[in-house]
Amino acid sequence: MATPKRLLILGSTGSIGTQALAVCAASEELELVGLSAERSWEALVDQARATGVKRIALADQDAAARAGEAWTDGQVLSGAAGLVKLVVESGAELVLNALVGSAGLAPTVATLGEGIDLALANKESLVVGGELVTTLAEATGARIVPVDSEHTALHQLIAGQPPGAVQRLTITASGGPFRGRTREQLQEVSVQEALAHPTWAMGGKITIDSATLMNKGLELMEAHHLFGTPYERIDVLVHPQSLVHGLIQLADGAMLAHLGPRDMRIAISYALHGGESAPLDLAALDLAAIGQLTFEAVDLDAFPCLRLARLAAAAGGTAPCVLNAANEIAVHAFLQGGLRFLEIPEVIERTLSQLGSEPVLSFESLYEADRQARALAGEAVASLR
Ligand code: NAD
Ligand code: MG
Repeated sequence: MATPKRLLILGSTGSIGTQALAVCAASEELELVGLSAERSWEALVDQARATGVKRIALADQDAAARAGEAWTDGQVLSGAAGLVKLVVESGAELVLNALVGSAGLAPTVATLGEGIDLALANKESLVVGGELVTTLAEATGARIVPVDSEHTALHQLIAGQPPGAVQRLTITASGGPFRGRTREQLQEVSVQEALAHPTWAMGGKITIDSATLMNKGLELMEAHHLFGTPYERIDVLVHPQSLVHGLIQLADGAMLAHLGPRDMRIAISYALHGGESAPLDLAALDLAAIGQLTFEAVDLDAFPCLRLARLAAAAGGTAPCVLNAANEIAVHAFLQGGLRFLEIPEVIERTLSQLGSEPVLSFESLYEADRQARALAGEAVASLR
């Protein structure tokens, strides 16, 4: 058997991270060399003990100090710089970035800059970093394989076609817990209702993004950067069963669809095995029992986040970074009970109109745009209280 591939998991205590550990435990082709989390140090130390890794990192300095006292079998790195150090010094051949939010950009850049292959769940890195990230990967020869059900589907579908054959891409959306509601009916929805996703169990931030449909806006940009497809050739289609994950359209009008169980381990395993499907112990779909697959258009009046994302994508430059930062602030405020559901797009729209789009000269200009957008979005949230 070939030597196992050395894998580093960033964000190992999260929804994607813990499922990745399960995939890793069941595979003889992967060897874990490090783990990281934001501040849940007890869970991270438990993971380190269970897997035998010798290096972990915590973004929160206090949490790192406590982990260092409790766990003396290896090295504990701390802060954003500790995360980058973990990437650069771990000897990993593959990094899974399962952080949430634009905090994932620096580790993505560190990974690709070192020429290390990246399994990317942190879609925000591509939304914010865009061309700079993909250009960096090209320059160092590192591969980016997505960990996102729709993009895993598209990656697999596109791989089976000759260059230039694919005319259009479609990503599907479940529609979230509020599918079918009008704008009026969304005025007073609660945090609990927004967190009750009909088809997927995920981290809090992406669950709210799925309820506002901002998740599809971010995924539109993710698809654009991963596959080099112009925005006008990427469609979003609501599909409440979440069983068809992506579709491609060929020049003769034929469409190819990717179907599969609603289980993120499929996407995770595909990326951790270098963009190839490997055996997984999951029940196959019983299509006769499912009976029906349905599709509908997105209601952009009730879900303006997707419209805002398309606008920011078309503007380019720093606009997607600004959109993403304002969304992170607004979603956080909503989860804390400090903003109403329909005020999420309002905060984003205000921030976008205040900052507009600047050219992206370097990663520094992105970090600066992110910082400014967070400050302005924070002010917008405060003014709505
Ligand atoms: P999560 O909130 O469950 O986990 C996030 C992980 O990142 C945790 O380990 C946390 O400790 C760590 N983290 C958070 N903020 C950090 C920071 N500032 N610095 C360092 N570490 C930090 O999130 P999730 O649902 O697993 O999502 C992770 C990413 O995967 C997101 O970008 C999400 O959009 C994407 N994704 C998730 C799913 C899913 O099913 N959960 C599906 C598709 C894509
Ligand atoms: Mg997705």
